[in-house]
Amino acid sequence: MSLSNKVAILGGGASGLMAALAAARAGADVTIYEHNNSVGKKILASGNGRCNIINTTVSAEDYAGIDPFFTAYALEQLPFEDFETFCHSIGLLLECKSDGRCYPLSNEAKAVLIAFKSAVADAGVKILTEKKVTALTKEKKGFIVHCENEKSIYDKVLIATGSQAAPQLGATEDGVRFAHSFGHEIIPQYPSLVQLHLNSKFHHKMAGVKTFAEVTLAINHKLLTKVQGDILFASYGISGLAILDISQNASYALMNNQRVSITINLLPNFDPQTLSATLEKLFNDVPNRPIETVLSTLLPGKTIVYLCEEIALNPSKFVSTLSEKELQKLIHLIQNWTFEVNGTHGFKHAEVSGGGVATAQINDKTMESKLVKGLYFAGEVLDIVGRRGGYNFNFAWASGLIAGKEMGK
Ligand SMILES: Cc1cc2nc3c(=O)[nH]c(=O)nc-3n(C[C@H](O)[C@H](O)[C@H](O)COP(=O)(O)OP(=O)(O)OC[C@H]3O[C@@H](n4cnc5c(N)ncnc54)[C@H](O)[C@@H]3O)c2cc1C
Repeated sequence: MSLSNKVAILGGGASGLMAALAAARAGADVTIYEHNNSVGKKILASGNGRCNIINTTVSAEDYAGIDPFFTAYALEQLPFEDFETFCHSIGLLLECKSDGRCYPLSNEAKAVLIAFKSAVADAGVKILTEKKVTALTKEKKGFIVHCENEKSIYDKVLIATGSQAAPQLGATEDGVRFAHSFGHEIIPQYPSLVQLHLNSKFHHKMAGVKTFAEVTLAINHKLLTKVQGDILFASYGISGLAILDISQNASYALMNNQRVSITINLLPNFDPQTLSATLEKLFNDVPNRPIETVLSTLLPGKTIVYLCEEIALNPSKFVSTLSEKELQKLIHLIQNWTFEVNGTHGFKHAEVSGGGVATAQINDKTMESKLVKGLYFAGEVLDIVGRRGGYNFNFAWASGLIAGKEMGK
């Protein structure tokens, strides 16, 4: 390390904090620029205040982007065991679930932030809050970090400004803007892990209905993926964990003007024959009751009227009067209710965003720009987006660690 290894980290989020710590521990003189009044706002808000900090079963296949395998080297450098040891070294205990999701043992996201803030302070990192970086330039003597009314010179700079998802937590597009100013290619950005808007006359009438379902996503009428989990109808469309899980593919397709639809199976635990037999028996047992009443033992009450309306069936009709054809139509619809998706709920409501700085121009072993020596990238500003389950933090820690170690050299 040269005597004047001055490193600027733009953004005090997950990747920036990890990088700052690694660079400072390697002996660099590190300054974090954060425009919020404190670092780590997304960490605090994450996982419903619990912070799903990492996943024990991560691989490059948990990511999307032009080249998801860009993540592979970074992920290999931070296996879960090493991450846990690292967390212990900064005073943070973890608890992992059987599906691989890990949380702070206290179940409080603030434990993560407290541990990181203490560790970076111990390592001598300077944190400048309420300091918005407005531009980044390079001259012979080094990089110039521009803030309002002031400029400072650094040997190396990390762009760790995240994505534009959740601007209310401080997200900006500044990172991609800075990257673009150095000639980096930017892959178009779209919201991910986000609720979807539906083109339907029913969803708003069913707002508030939450149920376990299977959701099949089709792009241009071709089945792409199927997931099971909670769905929640809302005034704008649909939300719930199953929807977040398909949202990356849906949002990407919408950005590319493709036709997107979801088909909902409201009773995924029944195969069609069992459902048919169950309903036939039920209808025989209580023949003189309205469809609406009888189906309420199986389905959320608010959905029944609209299921009936979709196939022009009167919900007050006695079940004994249903024709075989009507019964089969009803059964089919319960397990195959299709809705056109015509938008997402936007960056404001998204947890993450896809797209960003093209990874082809970044060295995956160092996170350094292939175009500009001394310029590094980490985290969500890159064209990498993870699945739900701790994978987004996972890449932020892993890429931040590599970049920090390299900048500390
Ligand atoms: C509500 C919510 C819940 C989430 N839950 C989870 C979860 O449980 N598990 C998971 O893995 N992921 C979760 N995520 C995603 C995760 O938070 C991000 O993927 C992760 O924070 C990305 O880290 P980062 O360092 O790249 O960016 P960020 O953490 O977003 O950090 C970027 C920082 O840069 C700052 N900044 C931006 N522009 C400037 C500028 N011009 N000057 C100075 N500072 C600037 C921002 O204020 C921010 O502090 C969640 C996200 C949200 C919004």
